[in-house]
Amino acid sequence: MPRILITGAAGFLGSHLCDRFLAEGYEVVGMDNLITGDLRNLEHLFPRKEFTFYHHDVSTFVHVPGALDYILHFASPASPIDYLKIPIQTLKVGSLGTHNCLGLARAKKARILVASTSEVYGDPAVHPQTEEYWGNVNPVGPRGVYDEAKRFQEAMTMAYHTYHGLETRIIRIFNTYGPRMRLNDGRVLPAFIGQALRGEDLTVFGDGSQTRSFCFVDDLVEGIYRLLLSDYPYPVNIGNPDEITIAQFAEEIIKLTGTTQKVIYKPLPKDDPTQRRPDITKAKQILGWEPKVSRSEGLKITYEAFKQLPQDVLYKQEHRDFEGYVRK
Ligand code: UDP
Repeated sequence: MPRILITGAAGFLGSHLCDRFLAEGYEVVGMDNLITGDLRNLEHLFPRKEFTFYHHDVSTFVHVPGALDYILHFASPASPIDYLKIPIQTLKVGSLGTHNCLGLARAKKARILVASTSEVYGDPAVHPQTEEYWGNVNPVGPRGVYDEAKRFQEAMTMAYHTYHGLETRIIRIFNTYGPRMRLNDGRVLPAFIGQALRGEDLTVFGDGSQTRSFCFVDDLVEGIYRLLLSDYPYPVNIGNPDEITIAQFAEEIIKLTGTTQKVIYKPLPKDDPTQRRPDITKAKQILGWEPKVSRSEGLKITYEAFKQLPQDVLYKQEHRDFEGYVRK
């Protein structure tokens, strides 16, 4: 049974990855410092003997007993609001956390896949974004703490590949959505659906003409799975090229939820990218991957999941204790 470490296991993507690799017959070791992760995302896995969980911050030295065949480094705050609240931790987990994971991969002779991001392209001057584009990032802006940490992560990962011969994979993840996103993480989809569920107006930032391209989580997880098992060490974009303006997206959420609330406009956050859409030619050619879930289908699934959330989560994030299951 192959054994895999997944950092950021209690987060949105991390928890879906735990599910997928357990379903594929892997033994899964999850790790998370629970700053933005939530153990409710893993609650259903705690009784399984193929799953263990460590409460640990990967920005400090990482020790995992036993063999590891694979490492997925997915620990990181991932929403612009989180970067503002915890900028130093965001920088540390992308840089020091990556270094620790690479060192661990080397010690265990494991293959490592690191989660990079479309944010390495910054506010892109090339559209759609190909992997060859070097990006347009403001290092000292509010998003710089995430963007530059991820750019450093890519450089460090390539260096381990080149100088140590480590088996490395780099995925550049574009906007992804689905069940288990934190309702109050500030990102546009949970923000709009949360507002609709609470009977509040939907807040569009700027004039809503900025674009994003949203990928359903199951498609992303399939792309990660294929990239990990491929032999391609350079960055690969995974995302859904179906591009939409944020104003159109708000209209779609209004239709989906049937809310009678309206759209209100708020100032555009500093350095908010004006456009974003992945060129997925490489993923198609190298991995035979392309997204399968349409936005209308994916949004329905996500809305149904958000509707099940208890009232206290809808209005305030609750914290529960899973002490018995957590290793320190
Ligand atoms: N956005 C918005 N209203 C919100 C939250 C976000 O209009 O309540 C906009 C935001 O300015 C950005 C887009 O939606 O242009 C996507 O934002 P998100 O934070 O989801 O992701 P990112 O900017 O990292 O792509």
